[in-house]
Amino acid sequence: MKKLFLIIGAPGSGKTTDAELIAQKHDEITQYSTGDMFRAEVASGSEQGELIKSFIEKGNLVPIDIVIKTIVNAIKKAPTDVVVIDGYPRSAEQMIELDKYLATEDSVQLISVIEVEVSQETAKNRVIGRAEEAEVVRDDDSIEVFYNRMKVYTDPLTEIQKFYQSKNLHKIISGEGTIEEIVDNMDKFVQSKI
Ligand code: AMP
Repeated sequence: MKKLFLIIGAPGSGKTTDAELIAQKHDEITQYSTGDMFRAEVASGSEQGELIKSFIEKGNLVPIDIVIKTIVNAIKKAPTDVVVIDGYPRSAEQMIELDKYLATEDSVQLISVIEVEVSQETAKNRVIGRAEEAEVVRDDDSIEVFYNRMKVYTDPLTEIQKFYQSKNLHKIISGEGTIEEIVDNMDKFVQSKI
């Protein structure tokens, strides 16, 4: 039985870094980031990558059929029983589609949806900081695209929170503070559930 954890959070919340650090600590955890998987597809130069790029650079959501295929493949190919995927779900539609998939898939259990919570100020400062420090700046780390990404993240958030709260699967972890504190909190929570 695969145990699935999802991590959601605003741009700049640090969700991918947190998940990567947790996976580094434990051989039995595999981590995937939807954003990283899409950027890899763009970098491959494929036709699908070209299409994905046109959504990422504006801060918009990649079409649902591509997203579902990507995460179902990631869950299936994960070599460990504990799988952490950050960046999903990002819409009510994605949440419902995953729910349908899980209802038909006995070998995967959703354990928790962890929301990394940061203020808009923290999120903005981190994204701008990342753009200033990076050797290769992400197309979507400009301030204009940041505001759209924030809106795209925030619009469906209440519905997503309510859905998982009703299933007792929603967990909030503060994304403020040092990376060590955040990862430590998240790691303790994940370990308590596996
Ligand atoms: P991130 O690295 O999580 O900030 O994601 C970067 C970009 O990838 C997002 O702004 C979207 O364009 C795309 N993306 C990542 N995850 C998803 C998802 N679950 N659904 C649709 N698009 C996504």
